[in-house]
Amino acid sequence: MNISSRQIKALTLTNSGALSLYFVGTGSAFTRVLNQNNLLIIKGRDHLLVDCGTKCPQSLYDAGLRLTDVQNYLITHSHADHIGGLEEAQLLGRYVTAQKPTMVINKTYEEILWQQSLRGGSEKSEAIDLTFKDLWNVVRPKRLKNYPRETWEANIGSINVKMPRTKHYPDSAKSWRDSFWSCCVIIDNKILYSSDTRFDPDLLESFDRKFKFETIFHDCQLFTAGIHASIDELSTLPLNLKKKIVLMHYGDNWKEFRAQARDAGFHSWAKQGHTYTF
Ligand SMILES: [Zn+2]
Ligand SMILES: [Zn+2]
Repeated sequence: MNISSRQIKALTLTNSGALSLYFVGTGSAFTRVLNQNNLLIIKGRDHLLVDCGTKCPQSLYDAGLRLTDVQNYLITHSHADHIGGLEEAQLLGRYVTAQKPTMVINKTYEEILWQQSLRGGSEKSEAIDLTFKDLWNVVRPKRLKNYPRETWEANIGSINVKMPRTKHYPDSAKSWRDSFWSCCVIIDNKILYSSDTRFDPDLLESFDRKFKFETIFHDCQLFTAGIHASIDELSTLPLNLKKKIVLMHYGDNWKEFRAQARDAGFHSWAKQGHTYTF
């Protein structure tokens, strides 16, 4: 893994072919100083934006990209720091560029995302009611068999993503099975990107056994409560896992926890505006 030495000022959607992960933001849902934890995957001529929060269109613009440049989306769950920019994406596609963006999404989550979130601001834009498919090209991931838990797979050009279900909310859910729809993303069989999840050692251990991840980017809340994995909970993981965990989705006061993270043996804190190349 190679981390860019400085923040990328003029982001492009192509590269020479290496797998590269650009952190649009590394902040939690209520961040003021940081951008929201959204990720842009770039590999050769292919790209995929994982989540598009409320601040994402502005964050991308500040890095030199327009939202309309982004053609491919994957959404991990319905919190606003992950979907708040989607209405803008779908309306720009319909009324500005006349080019539908593409979303990797299964039928179950498409129904949830459209009916509960995206429909309100777009359905009544024209004389005839618009549907999700009027606004998005859909890539349907396939359900994989014999996985430790429900997992979906898709390819966006040369980028392979697998999407195991996660245990994010409500906080009373016993497992991913009784949690509302959310997923993490395995990228090219070597990187686990947790997106938002509660502390879930079973996810990390069962999938790390299968894939022997090179790096794990993991949600890290700076206090223990609610629907995210906390730094104290993550600190109880075995050292071999912690050594490859890069912490992300953290609060604005993360610098107060640097010593704790170092002592616990985590790899590092994800760097907003930087590129991780594999
Ligand atoms: Zn979030
Ligand atoms: Zn969330």
